Amino acid sequence: MQTSEMKLDGNAIAGLLGEIFAVEMTSAQGTCASCGAVNEVGRVDVYIHAPGTVVRCPDCEQVLMRIVRGRGRYWLDLTGVRCLELAED
Ligand SMILES: [Zn+2]
Repeated sequence: MQTSEMKLDGNAIAGLLGEIFAVEMTSAQGTCASCGAVNEVGRVDVYIHAPGTVVRCPDCEQVLMRIVRGRGRYWLDLTGVRCLELAED
């Protein structure tokens, strides 16, 4: 570790994550981990399979996200998204 770095636990990013997940997501740009295509979240292909939702890349059809909601919880699998770019509000 470089001397300019400071190691903290995950509580240190709670505020930052709160800011990120509070912004309008439909205009966020997601990069597909499979083909590298960049698409707005509002333009991806969504398949509803209760209780889960599968989000696919409109360019290569690979899975970008899996979202499951149940028992008072959400499970969010972002394995297929290499990068999510969000504009500050
Ligand atoms: Zn793709």
